[in-house]
Amino acid sequence: MAGSVSLMACHECDLLLRVDHSFAKGVVKCPRCAAVLLKHKRHSLDLTLAYTITGLILFVISNSFPIIDFQFERQSTETILLSGVWELLDQDMYLLAGLVFVTTILAPFTQLATLLYVFLPLKFNRIAPYTSEVFRFASALRSWSMMEVFMLGILVSTVKLASMGTIVPGIALWSFGILIFVLAAATSSLDPDLVWEKLGVSQ
Ligand SMILES: [Zn+2]
Repeated sequence: MAGSVSLMACHECDLLLRVDHSFAKGVVKCPRCAAVLLKHKRHSLDLTLAYTITGLILFVISNSFPIIDFQFERQSTETILLSGVWELLDQDMYLLAGLVFVTTILAPFTQLATLLYVFLPLKFNRIAPYTSEVFRFASALRSWSMMEVFMLGILVSTVKLASMGTIVPGIALWSFGILIFVLAAATSSLDPDLVWEKLGVSQ
């Protein structure tokens, strides 16, 4: 397949070489200086899929149990994340409501949903419609919602929320904490080269 051959320069000795991705299983080394040029992550597909499914389960748990205890007008209400967002909108705190919604609900869900859409069919050697578009979108999202920005958003949300209510140290909070690590693990086990190769598209 001509589409999977690409030109590549060795980052150590600048040797220009053609790499045929369909034969490049495992490690590709520079023939002149033996520097490692390409390394396919082992079990990338299975790991990414496993982390994605785990992440979705944690996402559902963290959105189903109370996480914030608001004290508005001397009334204490324990709410789940989404109703916490409504509560903030109700109090005219649009910016904070948006920040909490994007960092704790929208961003993790979009990331997990796009990964599942791409990786679940791939596991069964199938390709869902628009997979390359979805994967391109997921890759753009990953570079845009870098972990640091994401973490900072969560930190700001938490500090702000804690000043208005009490964070409930229950199952929702713990599963959300683990979800952050699972998301990071899903991202680091992902091998974009492998996905493009399976899709038969050259980058
Ligand atoms: Zn080299």
